[in-house]
Amino acid sequence: MKKQAHKSIKARVRTVLKRFRGVGFKALNPSRKRYECPICQYQGPFQDAHDPTGLRKDAMCPSCSALERHRTFWLTLNDLPERARFCEMSLLHFAPEPELGDRLRRLFGHYTSADLDAPGVDYHVDLTKLPFENESYDMVIASHVLEHIREDRLALHHIKRILKPGGIAILQVPVLGEKTVEYPEPNPKEWFHVRSPGEDYFHRYTAQFSRVEKFRSSQFDTRYQPYIYENRAEWPADYRLRPTLSGVRHDDIVPVCYVER
Ligand SMILES: [Zn+2]
Repeated sequence: MKKQAHKSIKARVRTVLKRFRGVGFKALNPSRKRYECPICQYQGPFQDAHDPTGLRKDAMCPSCSALERHRTFWLTLNDLPERARFCEMSLLHFAPEPELGDRLRRLFGHYTSADLDAPGVDYHVDLTKLPFENESYDMVIASHVLEHIREDRLALHHIKRILKPGGIAILQVPVLGEKTVEYPEPNPKEWFHVRSPGEDYFHRYTAQFSRVEKFRSSQFDTRYQPYIYENRAEWPADYRLRPTLSGVRHDDIVPVCYVER
């Protein structure tokens, strides 16, 4: 484990520059559909995201760089009844997203960041071997992490173990179909994912946690653009194990997992 410094001046400058980027993008795209970012409160058009699978329409806030999944996460967080107590709660934020880290640090009473090896976090730890004491955190957030971990059930066991009674884990994964497909090896063309999670993936959460509540894009106001616009009918050849899916508008799902009191 390694203790590291908090946000640098360089990161603060980057945040200010991004805000200017939002203003510029709005000025240059007066005819694009306008949205509202629930994270940074920017109002205006969103940018398409360039993926190997093609363009994801209206995916990114040009002001804070938040993507669809960050917005659905933030909207979910704001809807939780525990929201009123965040200032008294301790949070372990695994693989912290730069768009969210500082905001969560301000929101929670005690904030700790961790990652396997990324620079700038408080602890370098492996989710399948968490060195923290039992019942030491009120909340754990790890978004788009478990699809990289072969021993995900062991990671879930550790996440639950370090949560206090009544604790919460928010563990988003990219849900790409109905059924989960395990890959024989990590796919370098899919950011080394070891599986393609389906909606059935959350059964692995219910095996550990007393209750799992799922928040979906369709529950939130469309002005926040919470959907993923992506053609999943025909993946590129490098993504051959991903299941196909019809339609181009897909829900993102935010699973909120509770530990029994
Ligand atoms: Zn934003």
